[in-house]
Amino acid sequence: MRVIEPATEKVLAEVAEASVEDADRAVARAKAAYPAWRAVSPGDRAKLLRRFANAVADDAGKLAELEARNVGKPISDARGEVGMVVDVFNYYAGAPERLLGNTIPVAGGVDMTFREPLGVVALIVPWNFPIAITSWKLGPALAAGNTVVLKPAALTPMTALELERLALLAGIPEGVFNIVVGAGRTVGERLVQHPDVAKVAFTGSTEVGRRIGALAADSIKRVTLELGGKSANIVFADADIDRAAASAPGAVFGNAGQDCCARSRILVERSVVERFMQALEIAIKKLRVGDPMDEKTEMGPLISADHRSKVATYLEDGAKVAIRGSAPSGAGFWFPPTVLSPVGPTDRAAREEIFGPIVAVIPFSDEADAIRIANDTVYGLSGSIWTNNAGRAMRVARALETGTISINSNTSVRVTTPFGGFKQSGIGRELGPNALDHYTELKNVFLSTT
Ligand code: NAD
Repeated sequence: MRVIEPATEKVLAEVAEASVEDADRAVARAKAAYPAWRAVSPGDRAKLLRRFANAVADDAGKLAELEARNVGKPISDARGEVGMVVDVFNYYAGAPERLLGNTIPVAGGVDMTFREPLGVVALIVPWNFPIAITSWKLGPALAAGNTVVLKPAALTPMTALELERLALLAGIPEGVFNIVVGAGRTVGERLVQHPDVAKVAFTGSTEVGRRIGALAADSIKRVTLELGGKSANIVFADADIDRAAASAPGAVFGNAGQDCCARSRILVERSVVERFMQALEIAIKKLRVGDPMDEKTEMGPLISADHRSKVATYLEDGAKVAIRGSAPSGAGFWFPPTVLSPVGPTDRAAREEIFGPIVAVIPFSDEADAIRIANDTVYGLSGSIWTNNAGRAMRVARALETGTISINSNTSVRVTTPFGGFKQSGIGRELGPNALDHYTELKNVFLSTT
């Protein structure tokens, strides 16, 4: 299987493609390794996770370069994402010794709860943030005592394969962390349906998430789903408009718009639309689009030619292009940062997850109108509110049907705080302490004292 570099269209590597039988063998290895891994003392499991974090930190340069080349993302972003992986493993290294239960007052004895591991967990991840999203699942899964089979996206297996090597180097026993590189329809579905897989942790599109949910329902398999988004970046007239406009390109053109948290709808209060658009244009013209390996690059190419064709369809049918940034020509799946304005709330660009560098500017009239438009979507992953009125900021934050909100900021993801979606953006939470609930089963034990 050829792995392509999106910035050059050259072959980056040849990787063996796994078959359904390979997936079965990986599950068998994970199943065989489970009893011993579960029995490793909490302290020793914590030490192994810290050593894994250190191995990633020592290898950070190579991992960042692999990720930047394979995804086409700027090297400075890739370096930040590898740094996050180190933080995630260190954070969950604190978990094995803190998986606490309760004692509950009952008559005639002592009642206790325990958090038990699930067994073999399948991790299925997308191509946009391969190593970061893998770590969000792998950290809590291993910390809680599960063994793992990871299926990276077929387009982006490079850092996953390197992680497997580093896990062994760190002393994580063979069979605890297994990788199968293969197609979703075959290898992915086999993992979802495998009787020895206790849980599937999936990140990807809502469409595939729906199918995984349906397949998993057959055996009542545990599932967490981190799916698509159509997040709103809401700018009120009383906000610091220049700051909001300067921050907006990064919030939607980061990772070339291939970001589930992309603020791909900018809702602007009607009275300041013109001012906002002027400031936005200045910010977009400064955006450096080009070679991912250049330290100064802020946006790279799209992942593939097919994906670029799909993104381009949003410029058909009379879409009003208000601002266009630059992009290299020649080899590479380039697409310039593009602003559509004005866009009606029912237009296709306002409703569908584009997953590319196109943003829709939608005017609104007042606070109620902004909330109504922002919530008028099947998605609910993240979003931002720009205002200098603290009461309004909190009112709107509570009214939005979305999992993560930033006020006067466009950040979404932190290692220590929960991340996940409302509505069709998913089920469950990753990162922070809550993720551990999704990799453990709650057990209740009663001991009679009579
Ligand atoms: P995708 O759904 O096509 O694929 C994701 C993974 O699922 C890949 O590994 C793929 O091989 C596998 N897969 C595909 N079909 C499958 C099937 N039938 N059974 C089992 N596995 C299958 O998504 P993508 O194109 O790789 O990524 C883009 C999508 O991911 C976007 O919709 C984006 O919003 C979403 N995403 C969500 C989050 C989040 O945290 N909510 C984060 C990143 C990306």
